[in-house]
Amino acid sequence: MQALTERQVRRSLVNCSRGEADGLALPVGFADLDWAELDLLGWRDPKAPLRGYLVLEVDGEPLGIAVRAADTRMSSRTTAMCLLCQTAQSGDAVSLFTARRVGEAGRNGNTVGTYICADLACSQRVRTEIPPWLQDRDPAEVVAERAEELRERVLGFVAAVRR
Ligand SMILES: [Zn+2]
Repeated sequence: MQALTERQVRRSLVNCSRGEADGLALPVGFADLDWAELDLLGWRDPKAPLRGYLVLEVDGEPLGIAVRAADTRMSSRTTAMCLLCQTAQSGDAVSLFTARRVGEAGRNGNTVGTYICADLACSQRVRTEIPPWLQDRDPAEVVAERAEELRERVLGFVAAVRR
């Protein structure tokens, strides 16, 4: 994705108030991000640990949503799958996140939820964690395919938030 300024990131969030967007903490190392290697910027708020954000580019414009992690975690002895990047991991590395819906639905407390990597680093994971059954294929092709699928799933989640 194209590099974003701090202001663009804050303004991109469609499901939180201006005050919340202005108050959030950007990811550690924001100034040094390698944007070309990101299909999606996802991070947990370093100052408000249950909060997180996902920002991607849609039609050349940044579009972001604020999410909130459940405060209960799954056991590290179970296996769970992130429903965005579809990486299977130990249960404690995946969390249930909810996003407040846009507009009146959100004001009435309406949310949508899904299981996502607890650190919201799906974009890095589609490049580094290649499932065993894909490992005999061309790595660049597999990464491109997984990145595209990640983007489609995130867009599906964002669409549910905005519906
Ligand atoms: Zn993930």
